Amino acid sequence: GAPKETLGFQAEVKQLLQLMIHSLYSNKEIFLRELVSNASDACDKLRFEALNNNGLYGDDSELKIRLSFDKAARTLTISDNGIGLSREEAVAHLGTIAKSGTKEFFASLSGDAQKDAHLIGQFGVGFYSAFIVADKVTVISRRAGLEHNQAVKWESEGAGDYSVEMVEKAGRGTDVILHLKDGEDDFLNAWKLKSIIRKYSDHITLPIVMKAEKWDEEKKEQVATDEDETVNQANALWARPKSEITEEQYQEFYKHVAHDFENPLGWIHAKVEGKQEYTQLLYIPARAPFDLWDRNARHGVKLYVKRVFIMDDAEQLMPLYMRFVRGVVDSADLPLNVSREILQQSKDIETIRGGCVKKVLSLLEGMADSDDAAEKEKYAGFWKEFGNVLKEGVGEDFANKERIAKLLRFASTHHDTTEQNVSLADYVSRMKEGQEKIYYVTAETFLAAKNSPHLEIFRKKGIEVLLLSDRVDEWVVGHLTEFDGKPLQSVAKGGLDLGKLEDEAEKKEQEKEAGEYKELTDRVKQALEARVKDVRITHRLTDSPSCLVSDEHDLSGNLARMLKAAGQ
Ligand code: ADP
Ligand code: MG
Repeated sequence: GAPKETLGFQAEVKQLLQLMIHSLYSNKEIFLRELVSNASDACDKLRFEALNNNGLYGDDSELKIRLSFDKAARTLTISDNGIGLSREEAVAHLGTIAKSGTKEFFASLSGDAQKDAHLIGQFGVGFYSAFIVADKVTVISRRAGLEHNQAVKWESEGAGDYSVEMVEKAGRGTDVILHLKDGEDDFLNAWKLKSIIRKYSDHITLPIVMKAEKWDEEKKEQVATDEDETVNQANALWARPKSEITEEQYQEFYKHVAHDFENPLGWIHAKVEGKQEYTQLLYIPARAPFDLWDRNARHGVKLYVKRVFIMDDAEQLMPLYMRFVRGVVDSADLPLNVSREILQQSKDIETIRGGCVKKVLSLLEGMADSDDAAEKEKYAGFWKEFGNVLKEGVGEDFANKERIAKLLRFASTHHDTTEQNVSLADYVSRMKEGQEKIYYVTAETFLAAKNSPHLEIFRKKGIEVLLLSDRVDEWVVGHLTEFDGKPLQSVAKGGLDLGKLEDEAEKKEQEKEAGEYKELTDRVKQALEARVKDVRITHRLTDSPSCLVSDEHDLSGNLARMLKAAGQ
């Protein structure tokens, strides 16, 4: 094979390793959860690829994960017969982090292990967590479909570099061998390993096996036998009755499917019967991943058919504006050989997606409308992390527009803070006697919105105005033209007609002045030539001498600026 090569880790990997070793030490056993999670993913990937290439299984079609240890050598090995890694894949996946935003994330770390430990949760720990307990990690892997002499051996001490070389390996899949640090001999104990597996990885659907042990009277210790023993329940968590699943089991399962390190904000677990029969276990994360805005990022919902894994990131199961949702959907009706292409046109999938969306909306409504302060707090947290994504739904999901509109939260002149905590219903409940519209202003920043001269008359009259400064807000008001029968109206558009809110005297005055000052407005208009359509006398200003407004049907100033910045 190719000669041994030594390669350097990507700078961010080095930082991650440092940070992890120092900050996660108090919870070190999670390394096993991460490695078992990867082994399970590798088996899922094999299943998916084998849909189109059954030969990949060879004569080894019983997928499983094995834990074994060698007391004398002080090694612990996690093996799987999943997809495996080629040399190139080992270099790409075990030497770099391929998430967008990685650089920015690492640049934002404080260097204080305590604080950063919390942040690292957001990033996920994964494979590198092996270095919490090992001072050397050896990965021996053979990609499904490659010959036995095309296996790769990857090895690192978790400092700056790693080596790769071609080796032989009898079977398909991956062995991750941990050379334990001094003092970590606890992990060379079957009882200890079993208890960790039951705690963190019981939900893994594949069997996790170990050699059964028996007492040796001569040696006066437990010794391994030749019999395999399955140490997890090895059945699908979502298929169990709710009453038999503990809170912790739901949480650990979430960490596996979502590749997250923290507990989720909430979840729904439901079995749907009827035209389509399926089970859904869907989670809302507590925090946005770094790649939330990356169009190529994972979508997070896994599809199973009758408990058989079909695919990751089944984007047809969730609309884009719910791309933060993680979990599984298990259909009883779809064919086992369903492909992405079939899913794209499947009516059944549409039904399932519709059902999932409704459940997620109910979950969010449950938090948002709860009288329980803790639930409300959760919703506020959700909004901070994912509000801007949910807002997209106003234009994307016509059928659920009303429900989404109720979930929206905005900043407004009522609180005058950046916090988005005003619902449209709150706004309506505070509308003035005679007020018919919901007023808003859009701007590039919160401060620009808050200080907009267009607000002067509203502030004077005590009328609340929504302060919109997120990029997606133009899209929201473009698609949401009314709420609860009240039209949404930009304060920066058209000849401001405050309707019944304007007193007759003011109106008269304005008309009179328009005549009186005609000469002035004509001259201003002339001077500005084609840059403005019209120049008018107004009462909407109390402090500023003048302001720009756009016509009722023209692009708003803010949107025009955004389009120009985008080169359109
Ligand atoms: P994640 O699981 O979130 O992708 P990890 O750090 O846990 O991140 O793993 C990094 C990558 O390494 C995986 O995405 C996968 O490509 C590869 N990998 C890790 N363990 C295995 C394994 N047992 N078999 C095959 N590939 C693996
Ligand atoms: Mg992982």
